[in-house]
Amino acid sequence: MTTELLLLGTAAAPMPVVGRRGISSTLIVGERVFVIDCGRGAPSAFVDAGLDFRRLEAVFLTHLHADHTGDLVGMLLYPWGVRAGEEGPLAPIRVYGPSRPEALPSGDAIFHRETTIHPELPAPGTTDLVRSIVAGYAYHLNVMPLDSHMPDAGQLVRGIDISLPRRAEGGARGAVVVFDDDVVRVTAVAVTHGRAVPALAYRFDTRDGSVVFSGDTTVNDSLIALAQGADILVHQVADLGYLGRHGTDDAELKRMAALHTDVSEVGGVAERARVRELILSHYLPADPGAITDAEWARRAGQGFSGTTTAGRDGLRRLLPRDRRMP
Ligand SMILES: [Zn+2]
Repeated sequence: MTTELLLLGTAAAPMPVVGRRGISSTLIVGERVFVIDCGRGAPSAFVDAGLDFRRLEAVFLTHLHADHTGDLVGMLLYPWGVRAGEEGPLAPIRVYGPSRPEALPSGDAIFHRETTIHPELPAPGTTDLVRSIVAGYAYHLNVMPLDSHMPDAGQLVRGIDISLPRRAEGGARGAVVVFDDDVVRVTAVAVTHGRAVPALAYRFDTRDGSVVFSGDTTVNDSLIALAQGADILVHQVADLGYLGRHGTDDAELKRMAALHTDVSEVGGVAERARVRELILSHYLPADPGAITDAEWARRAGQGFSGTTTAGRDGLRRLLPRDRRMP
């Protein structure tokens, strides 16, 4: 068995950019495929990489911003027709992600909403999202089987909310094992991404090694603890200075510093986590022409004694065999 990391898309933020797909990664464990976030273009990137939708077992959402979830619809519905074997429908694609927050976050004088959308459930969680996708596409799911051989739509997907222990006063939330079948173990912690609560990071452990996905976060002790000794840390990166020089005002920059880890900080995170390789992803700015890969890697790697790699769409890493689960 091998474990392979593959980056499907590496762009931050919802706005499409030329030359970089939205944030999405996969971990391929033997024949099984796990997807982490479903940003723009993820289903197309999935087939471009030669992956088989029949092997898609589960999707893990780090948080419910659209740049991480927008193409979940396609990831579920486009390959529906092939989700069957000789015995009937394949096992449902499991979609793990944050539960409903305890309360809808409020804003302040500078940043606030005008209209509260869907006030009866203004902050749906992952299970709600999956249920809404199925309900919103009920026409397709109910009518398509009348004209084509389609697997039972009732077996297509299951949403699963991840609940983390309540935050102890001033303390970090503990890690929670959300998936474990003796081959793959997935552990989640809460990270800090502005008002996007809950936001999660994930660690995958297999016999081949360990890969951690930061999600979107500021420098976060829970993430650093989660990532201890991992082979690979896939970490988001932002260059707030660049944004400041290109028109982002001070109020928004201050807010963004509460959302993201800056390029000047991420090497320190990797060093404290003692990972072997830091792979950059979820670039802000997302435009590949803004900052070169070499520049991202050089700046991000400062303070980190391991290997720093500027991730790009399609990057692969095969994890070594014969490593023991920690
Ligand atoms: Zn994001």
